[in-house]
Amino acid sequence: MNLQNLVRKNIRRLVPYSSARKEFAGTAEIFLDANENSFGSPLSINYNRYPDPLQMEIKERIAKINNLKSSEIFIGNGSDEAIDLLFRIFCRPAKDNTLICPPTYGMYEVSAEINDVQVKRANLTKNFRLDFQAIENAVNENTKLLFVCSPNNPTGNSFQREEILNLAKNFGGIVVVDEAYIHFSSEKSLLDEINNFPNLVVLQTFSKAWGLAGLRVGLAFANEEMIALFNKVKPPYNVSQIAQEAILAALENRETVEKTVAAIISEREKLVKKLKLFSFVQMVYPTDANFVLVKMSAANSIYKFLLDEKIVVRNRNSVELCKDCLRITVGTPEENKILLEALEKL
Ligand code: PMP
Repeated sequence: MNLQNLVRKNIRRLVPYSSARKEFAGTAEIFLDANENSFGSPLSINYNRYPDPLQMEIKERIAKINNLKSSEIFIGNGSDEAIDLLFRIFCRPAKDNTLICPPTYGMYEVSAEINDVQVKRANLTKNFRLDFQAIENAVNENTKLLFVCSPNNPTGNSFQREEILNLAKNFGGIVVVDEAYIHFSSEKSLLDEINNFPNLVVLQTFSKAWGLAGLRVGLAFANEEMIALFNKVKPPYNVSQIAQEAILAALENRETVEKTVAAIISEREKLVKKLKLFSFVQMVYPTDANFVLVKMSAANSIYKFLLDEKIVVRNRNSVELCKDCLRITVGTPEENKILLEALEKL
């Protein structure tokens, strides 16, 4: 596969913006190159300088942890930024299309629409498995991106590595595997496959297991050539100094993440067991994520009842294959207890 053939012509010939901080790589003491405010700011911590446009310190840390090269990592303003960049790199507006496997994460479709890219759908089967025949039928020569979310939001299940890799092997476009919830999953990440499949992009995020949704930091892993395309198209300073500093500090404290993930999984199992006992619960779908999809009789009214109890869950009733389903994030033991007590009033 020749990756460049898939890239939009305007992106192939694009001369990217070259920021002052990107051009300068040596040592200096006086910075008069970026029109910053040399006098400082109203804050005691100074954020008057632009951050590292390529977030090299973080990438080196993450590369070391995952046995990768820094040049195989893109860091974005949430993984939502990586999703948007994929459309801008590969999809010609009003010509190309993307294939999604609903029910799935909503931003693939929204990002496609924003970029004027047609969305084709190969719905999951009733058991929330990938429908390979439907995928094959939907693909045409203009299908540039195929999104597979594993574990999938909102269904919670993971797909098997081999299934996803088979898609990557057979599909002529880019396969984007969204591993936002991978830390909660029994399946192994596809990170170690990025150099075996030139068309494979793996997305991860600091928003879930890492507990840093407020920072807005997401990751894309792929071969160097693919990552160079992300860097070419991204806004120059897409990750703030505060976010970069916080991520570096968090990376020094990985044991906390492991502990939290274990605690969330243990709470999830308890929650699933208790939810199954309610007479109005028809099905608690198996989950590999930090949330659970629950089919109930009268989901809409239960959703409203919970709102009255000041508890907000996600109503997925109008999403394909999720009729009568609520998606419930696993909370702290205290939060889960309050949720279950509220449901007992029904
Ligand atoms: N992918 C999936 C599957 C998600 O559920 C979410 C957030 N809900 C994201 C990506 C977005 O993550 P981020 O906060 O990194 O933009």
